[in-house]
Amino acid sequence: AVMTNDAMVSEKIENPRFLRKSEAKVKKAQRTLSRKKIGSKNREKAKLILAKKHERIANQRQDFLHKLSRRIVDENQVIVVETLKSKDMMKNHKVAKSIGDVSWYEFVRQLEYKSRFYGRTLIKADPWYASTQICSTCGVKGEKKKLDVREWTCTHCGAYHDRDINASLNLLMLAD
Ligand SMILES: [Zn+2]
Repeated sequence: AVMTNDAMVSEKIENPRFLRKSEAKVKKAQRTLSRKKIGSKNREKAKLILAKKHERIANQRQDFLHKLSRRIVDENQVIVVETLKSKDMMKNHKVAKSIGDVSWYEFVRQLEYKSRFYGRTLIKADPWYASTQICSTCGVKGEKKKLDVREWTCTHCGAYHDRDINASLNLLMLAD
């Protein structure tokens, strides 16, 4: 996710390391479980361990999203979020994973009710809004960009863009 505040300062939010660590632990517990004999006591034990790891990561993720959404609502009067075409996204494994990681829908849900509570304006951009295609410097809509294109140069004005930051600047323009 990318946040752009009123001063047009962009900040990329990466999936925190503690979540990646917990994910690795879940994977390990899954492997352990798969090696245990069906119907055995050890398998039941491994199942329980896996369930606990899942619960822990779910709690950590929820906590992270709550803190982040609270900070965004605290720091900004107007918040613009992009709603994603999940079907298209899910075709791409890498992107699907990162969406799963940050739980975008849950995040948007939290932003919605917190914005309402603290009197902020929340704008949801339509999925068809070409936030990645439009150059935020000159406004010209360029060609579609493949998901692995992280940086690009506008063929019209020559501006050099980080894909996500450019998209977030375009989304912010919807707020005006
Ligand atoms: Zn341009």
